[in-house]
Amino acid sequence: MDEQDKLAMASRLAREVADTRQRLVTGGLFYVAGWGVVTASGDVWQDHALAAGGVGLALALLAVLRFLPGPPPQDAPVERLQAWLDSRWWLVLATAAVWGGVLSWAMLDPHLAPGRTAALLCTIAFATAFAHNYSLRLGRAALGIALIYVPAPLLLPHTGESLSVVVTLGVYTIYLGLVMVRSYRDYQAQLDLYESVRTQRDQFETLSRVDPLTGLANRRYFSGALEHLLGESRQRQQPLSMLVMDLDHFKVVNDELGHDAGDVCLARFADRMREVFHAPGVHLARLGGEEFGVLLPGLDARAAADVAERMRASLEQAPLQLREGPLLITVSIGVASLAPASEAEGTDLYRAADRAMYQAKTDGRNRVRIDLGTA
Ligand code: GH3
Ligand code: MG
Ligand code: MG
Repeated sequence: MDEQDKLAMASRLAREVADTRQRLVTGGLFYVAGWGVVTASGDVWQDHALAAGGVGLALALLAVLRFLPGPPPQDAPVERLQAWLDSRWWLVLATAAVWGGVLSWAMLDPHLAPGRTAALLCTIAFATAFAHNYSLRLGRAALGIALIYVPAPLLLPHTGESLSVVVTLGVYTIYLGLVMVRSYRDYQAQLDLYESVRTQRDQFETLSRVDPLTGLANRRYFSGALEHLLGESRQRQQPLSMLVMDLDHFKVVNDELGHDAGDVCLARFADRMREVFHAPGVHLARLGGEEFGVLLPGLDARAAADVAERMRASLEQAPLQLREGPLLITVSIGVASLAPASEAEGTDLYRAADRAMYQAKTDGRNRVRIDLGTA
């Protein structure tokens, strides 16, 4: 299972936890109420007070335990989510089993005979609700429905009910099976949809900040990072430097090797940036076309120019490797810096670095220039 599949599984499970929790909320109380109705009109409380009280207490306890403990957070590890779900299912299945016992008792014990019809009707209602609400897991839902409902068709013939009631309940069993399968499929489809919406949202989120060709941040994200780092640098009383880099005569690469090779060249250049500017806190971006930006928090203009020179020299010493062979390409780099006390804005820093880059171009390209206008 790769990382993507694991992520999808965890997100489905987190969703199932939330949905299961929602379904658990009211269910348990209905069983307690059902028991009250079934026993209201018989004399079971006189003759079997202990057993009757025990059943009521068990159902009430199971209803309360549904809420304890609450669900783990959505980003909890898969094992924790699964463990919580399993523990909830035990409670739900235990409730179903107790109700199956209640129904059997009502069928067989003359003390409960007046509540028999109520028990049957409650059973049908509970089994139907179960098929609709708990078909998140098919096998467990089938077991739950069997526990609640199966005593009915099995025991009815012994209670002297007419054949037509037995047959009706038999037919209803088939209906419950169909509802259960359809609910299960609907829920799986809902999870699939939820999953694809989540994936798409993540993709859009990535696209909104990453340049797909180079994998670097895009201009928009870079501008945000610039504002953020500016605030941070002032707070820490540190300088902030910025490089603007533009490939020299890039048009020639496109013209001679083709646009696709030009694209590969840009991607390789970005790889080289990642190699050269690997210090923590550094932000790299493709600002557009064949223009790139670097934010260097903590470095003043001189230190930033040294790092810029390393990038320039690196291209000279080790050409970029394209499918067509090694490509000697040079870069013009503009450097600008903001001192902590400077009142200049992020856009001023950007403009100064851009100016310095154009200075490098006019001075003959393949060089680093500093603009001290904002230092
Ligand atoms: P200079 O040294 O003055 O910067 O010359 P240059 O040729 O690099 O500059 P110019 O701005 O005239 O040309 C930039 C070229 O970059 C033009 C454009 O076709 C090309 N370009 C911009 N974006 C891309 C891209 O994503 N892929 C490719 N292959 N080419 C691109
Ligand atoms: Mg250029
Ligand atoms: Mg350009």
